[in-house]
Amino acid sequence: MNFDTISEPLARRLADGLTRLAAVARQLDWQAAEAAGLSPTQADILRFVAGRAGGTRLTAAAAHAGVRKATASDAVASLERKTLVRKSADTQDGRAVVLKATAKGRQVAEAWPASFSPVVEGLSADEQALLLGLVIKMIRQLQQRGLIAPQRTCVTCRHFRENVAPGSDRPHFCALVKAPMADRHLRVDCPEHEAA
Ligand code: SF4
Repeated sequence: MNFDTISEPLARRLADGLTRLAAVARQLDWQAAEAAGLSPTQADILRFVAGRAGGTRLTAAAAHAGVRKATASDAVASLERKTLVRKSADTQDGRAVVLKATAKGRQVAEAWPASFSPVVEGLSADEQALLLGLVIKMIRQLQQRGLIAPQRTCVTCRHFRENVAPGSDRPHFCALVKAPMADRHLRVDCPEHEAA
């Protein structure tokens, strides 16, 4: 008996495993949204808006949540009624509108539990660092293929200098804060990110 011939392809088993993990995280996210009196889309948009102090456009929020603009608009209207989000004029373009979180909205977003925490907390620090590098690599590839909205990760940031000190324990460099970085320091959603 040879497991290479009797097993499902490796990529298929890996994808199945990730699907199970995503289902757990999604369920925890929905429970948190329900407890906060929000729909999953409202919760997603609120956290996206709250992470952008300068505000964001509706189209960006819709792309992040993976929903149509009309659906995002309904979610934002509900968030406005709950005084979690407000609209204001864009300082760069007076005709455009930006979404900003209210103090209450930021509070709700900051208290939000990380839905993948139970999935990763059983891993050692080294395993988490390794997984973080792989997750960022997958996000970058999905972004390059246009399958997800642009993300604020180090690897797509104009301040990021990748592997400028090969062989050292901190091979990368952030030119914004002028500090070397290891893979474990890479950010998935950095407020200071600027697209490369
Ligand atoms: S500014 Fe943020 S996203 Fe950009 S390289 Fe530095 S830490 Fe990474």
